[in-house]
Amino acid sequence: MKKALISIVAALLLSTSLWAGQPEEGDGIGLETVTIDNKVIQVYNGVIGRWEETAGQSLHALAHRFGTTVQEIYKVNRNDVGGEYVFVPMSKEFYAELIRRGYGRRILQVDSRKLIWPVETPNRSSGFGNRFGGHHNGLDFACPSKTIVVAAMEGTVIRSQWMGGFGNAVVIRHKDGTETTYAHNTKVLVRIGDDVQRGQVIALSGNTGRSTGPHVHLEVRYENVPLDPEDFLQYGLARPETVVRERLEDQPSEASALNLQDQ
Ligand SMILES: [Zn+2]
Repeated sequence: MKKALISIVAALLLSTSLWAGQPEEGDGIGLETVTIDNKVIQVYNGVIGRWEETAGQSLHALAHRFGTTVQEIYKVNRNDVGGEYVFVPMSKEFYAELIRRGYGRRILQVDSRKLIWPVETPNRSSGFGNRFGGHHNGLDFACPSKTIVVAAMEGTVIRSQWMGGFGNAVVIRHKDGTETTYAHNTKVLVRIGDDVQRGQVIALSGNTGRSTGPHVHLEVRYENVPLDPEDFLQYGLARPETVVRERLEDQPSEASALNLQDQ
C-alpha cells in the first residue's frame, strides 16, 4: 500500500514538472517530430543502416551489399563487431532505393513529454498492478518474437544484458531521472553507454526470462519505484494527420517532414 502511494506521488511529480522541462506553446503541448525505426531502415549512433545477423555473412559481404566499407562498420559499432548482430551503415543510394520501394519509416508528431509505444502495433496483454497475488510492475504488449522494439524516449543505455526474470533486457535512463525497461527480448542490440534516440530500435522482442509467451514488458521507474506506464504513454498516434511516411527529401532534415503536414 505504501508502495502504491509512493507511485502516485512520484507520478504526480513527474507529470507536473520533470517531464515538462521544455517551454510549451499554444495549447500547452510541445510537439516533437519523431522517426520510428522499422525492420528495414534503422538508426544506430546517429547513422542510418540496419542491424544484420553476422552468421554466415562476412563483414566484407555485408559492407558490399549495403554500399559501405568494413571500416565504417567497425566505426559505427565502436569496434564491437564480434557479436551475433552488427549494425551496417547504408549508402545514400541503398537508402534511396528502399524509400522508392516504399520502406520509409513512420514520422510522428508527439507530445515531447510522453513515451512512444515500444512496438508498432501495441496489443496490451497485461496492465500494471496486482496480478496473480503479486504486483505486475509494468505493462505487457503481446507481439510475435523478433518484433522491433524501439526506445520510448531518448536517453542513455544503462543495461543491455541478461537480467534473470527479465530475460534479455534493455534499461534506458532518461534526462529527468526516470528509467524505462524493455524485457523478455530474443536479442538486445544496443550497448551499455549508447545514447539512443526516441524511436530507435534497441532490441528484438521475445520470450526469454520469466515469461509465458512472446511479449514486451515495459517498465517505468523513478528512483527505482515502478510507475504505471499508462500514465506516460502517448495516445492518439494513429490519427492520420499526425503520421507521415519518410520520403527522400526528409533526410536528413526533420523540418521538411513537418512541412508535409501542410500539403
Ligand atoms: Zn510484464
